[in-house]
Amino acid sequence: MSFSADSPLADGVVASPNRGARVGGELDLLILHYTGMPTAQAALERLCDPAAEVSAHYFVFEDGRIVQMVPESDRAWHAGASAWAGARDINSRSIGIEIAHPGHAGGLPPYPEPQMAAVTALTRDIVTRRAIPGPRVLAHSDVAPARKEDPGELFPWERLAQAGVGHWVPPAPMRDGRFFALGDTGQPVEALQAMLALYGYDQPVTGRFDAAMAAVVTAFQRHFRPARIDGVADSSTITTLRDLIAAQPA
Ligand SMILES: [Zn+2]
Repeated sequence: MSFSADSPLADGVVASPNRGARVGGELDLLILHYTGMPTAQAALERLCDPAAEVSAHYFVFEDGRIVQMVPESDRAWHAGASAWAGARDINSRSIGIEIAHPGHAGGLPPYPEPQMAAVTALTRDIVTRRAIPGPRVLAHSDVAPARKEDPGELFPWERLAQAGVGHWVPPAPMRDGRFFALGDTGQPVEALQAMLALYGYDQPVTGRFDAAMAAVVTAFQRHFRPARIDGVADSSTITTLRDLIAAQPA
């Protein structure tokens, strides 16, 4: 069951039995998670427990140690029911990294510096070896907005972007003015839905700002405009989304 690590940055292998064959040929997404458990050890054990039926390719401890749990060639079980840019079997086309962190339920403490240095280096290694485009380095909350909020709004996406990982633009300044929120309907809502879907979010274009859309807007804010995470599409949120789309690599 053991295997040799794919990344030269892995300090070792802790093989998880929770894995299978990938379905389809593409491997072009990198999904980041926090474990959301009180201790790294408990999380590591759960990711190896056949009864839990969860796993990830890599696990990053608070002190920056990295272990690989599933070979990159295999399908790990980290994303669950999720979608991005029309694809639904996210596990089949992604590499998943679990970051040991107690999560929102654990008070959302800042990520330790050695851990973020390790995550930055590991993600850079993976996107380079696998040629994963910047806009396809995502939070679990981006691909499952109604269910997930990891790795959370304290995750340093800007730092990763400075290291050449992911896609990020400076958030547009907060200002007053017209905005859209739960219950709104009409063409402007439809236009915003189309932009969210264009970027990759699983957002149907219905013209109705419903609870599912509020979850998508919240996920967007958590990743790209964390100054206020309220599911309200204010002008800063919309402008940031527009800037991100405009700045996408060809
Ligand atoms: Zn997750």
